Amino acid sequence: MKRNCTSCGGWMDRNQGPLLLSDARLGMIAIPQATYWKCKSCGKMLYPIATARLIEEQSNRRRDEIVRLYPIGEFLNATDTAAVLGISRQALHKHRRISNGFIYQTTLSGKIVYLKQSVDLFKRTGDGRFSLAESAPRVIRYVSHSSLDQSSLAQAFASWSSQSTSTNTEVAYTTRPQLRHSRKAIQI
Ligand SMILES: [Zn+2]
Repeated sequence: MKRNCTSCGGWMDRNQGPLLLSDARLGMIAIPQATYWKCKSCGKMLYPIATARLIEEQSNRRRDEIVRLYPIGEFLNATDTAAVLGISRQALHKHRRISNGFIYQTTLSGKIVYLKQSVDLFKRTGDGRFSLAESAPRVIRYVSHSSLDQSSLAQAFASWSSQSTSTNTEVAYTTRPQLRHSRKAIQI
């Protein structure tokens, strides 16, 4: 199946396989198996809805994974978050932008906790999102135990790296030791 590229008019091929994406806030996102269109001339990618969903799911998982690496002391509970923002707890829970992720949050013992740095940023600018890529392991081979089924991921990377022309196989270790301990290298 082919279609014309909407950017350059070149041919787009339909591909199936692992997809590695660079996200400005999250760093590398890996989807082991996805369908996508790629332009042979300019490299533009197009995603079917099913693939877009996979990307969204994996981005959400990745975001939560990185947010959870922050020490517990860097989070605020709902009461304190509402106080910082000068709104009621009820307003906090009903706030669309906040529940849509404009403040980084995760759950602890079934309760939502908010990353303080993100709360402060949201208070100042209305958008509490900042780049988490620095907090994430830089190398895609480092993924957490929970993120994906490891064997399928390892397979995806093996297949990807055999196709890839990149010679950059250097392993970069993160400088934050608590990250290193919570991650496991996938051997490829
Ligand atoms: Zn193109």
